[in-house]
Amino acid sequence: MQTEQYSVFTQRIRMLKIPAVATRVDDLATWAKYKKKMCDRCTGTCCSLPVEVKAVDLVRLDLIDAFELDDNMKRIFKRLSKDGQVEHYHEKTGLFTLTRMANGDCLYLDPVSRRCTVYEKRPDTCRNHPQVGPRPGYCAFIPK
Ligand code: SF4
Repeated sequence: MQTEQYSVFTQRIRMLKIPAVATRVDDLATWAKYKKKMCDRCTGTCCSLPVEVKAVDLVRLDLIDAFELDDNMKRIFKRLSKDGQVEHYHEKTGLFTLTRMANGDCLYLDPVSRRCTVYEKRPDTCRNHPQVGPRPGYCAFIPK
């Protein structure tokens, strides 16, 4: 990181009163303790983690109809996978994984604003992060 960029980075970290640790999304030990205002200043790194969703989340996202909840989920997975909406289905848990772009971003993350494009309809996993997640109470905060 160049000196000027580093200075801006440390200033932002100080303003948020969180430890100046270089966060790596794949290293939970580098995650910061979550505080409310962090999301406004973050690049949306939580939206580059795999997002597991239930069938009811797919209904809320308008990907399936409510009457399909009793259908064969494997068949639904095939359809949504073909459409590029989900990339994995775990039959035992009934959990689907939303598709991620080549850079790891969720397909619903706006690449420029770094904001969720389906915020009102977002899955429970997203609503509950980081209280529920790989390291509860911590998130992979990387400032804009
Ligand atoms: S659905 Fe929205 S909040 Fe959830 S990971 Fe995707 S972009 Fe982020």
